[in-house]
Amino acid sequence: MGLLARFLLLQHRTERSVFLVRQGGRHTEQRQMRSNGMGSQAGAHIAIEDVSHRYRNADGWAVDSVSLTVEPGEAVALLGRSGCGKSTLLHVIAGLIKPAHGRVVIDGRVVTGPSPNWVVMFQQPSLYPWMTVEQNVAVGLRFNGRMKEAATRVPELLELVELSEFRDRNVQDLSGGQQQRVALARALALSPDALLLDEPFSALDAFTRANLQRDVRRITRERGITLVLVTHDVNEAATMADRALIMQPGRIVKSVIVPEAPQSQGDDQQFRLSRAALIEAYEAVAGMSFADIAGQETALGAAEAEPGVFERRVESGRVAAPATE
Ligand code: ADP
Repeated sequence: MGLLARFLLLQHRTERSVFLVRQGGRHTEQRQMRSNGMGSQAGAHIAIEDVSHRYRNADGWAVDSVSLTVEPGEAVALLGRSGCGKSTLLHVIAGLIKPAHGRVVIDGRVVTGPSPNWVVMFQQPSLYPWMTVEQNVAVGLRFNGRMKEAATRVPELLELVELSEFRDRNVQDLSGGQQQRVALARALALSPDALLLDEPFSALDAFTRANLQRDVRRITRERGITLVLVTHDVNEAATMADRALIMQPGRIVKSVIVPEAPQSQGDDQQFRLSRAALIEAYEAVAGMSFADIAGQETALGAAEAEPGVFERRVESGRVAAPATE
């Protein structure tokens, strides 16, 4: 793919995410009244009511009659193999897909589209490559007419995600994990009631991934933000979720309560127990051993993995700001 085509693809992704944020701007004022600045806030109550979705030209239902309630501040993992409908369900919750049947109600409102009250993080952080870290974090505030908040909010967020010293750096000069931290800060800048994660850490190395999993869980717990996480990784579900919902094509087939993960690496007995319980449930649902499931997922993941946006960019030079910026 040529440089211009790559740039346009990245810009399309970034513009789309900002556009989605803009769409929900009408809820902002109400949200600000409920949020106490950077402090704790009420997490979203999410009710999924008999939701089904089928893609055009697809044989079957990607999501088939799913009902589920997520309590304010709860962290729920949608856990299952590739293709079982996790992302589709998450996108329905986010208002990115209108379901064929059923509805999602967040805090008493039927979801009809995206909103800054519930923010999605994807595998690709989709940052503006010509902007600094600080500018990227502020971009959602800017497009929602809330730039006045940026002066206090952005430095606090950068501290929270441990990027204060990188504030003036161009995001192209950051690692993949640091770029996801910028995306996390950008998402939190809007004080969302819910964070919806679509395998955002799956392209990162194991060490960086583990740090981000712990940090995101800590931050959402401290702020009372409701978390819905899509993953095929049992460890990720055990680290981040209060409850794992195991999916098979189109359906949630089992719910497993996950005890709180240990805060320190040394105290991992509880974590091992919850991981073992999840693996047992996963194996029972899949009818095969976890080693086989994990092996297949790894092979599939390796085949599907796209190089990071900026990794590809490094091959072909840096991205400059568009002429209109
Ligand atoms: P998961 O997130 O668990 O990997 P998805 O929700 O992405 O699963 O996909 C569920 C099913 O819907 C799969 O069979 C997949 O092939 C299909 N699917 C996903 N996106 C589309 C699409 N845009 N068009 C047609 N089928 C799709």
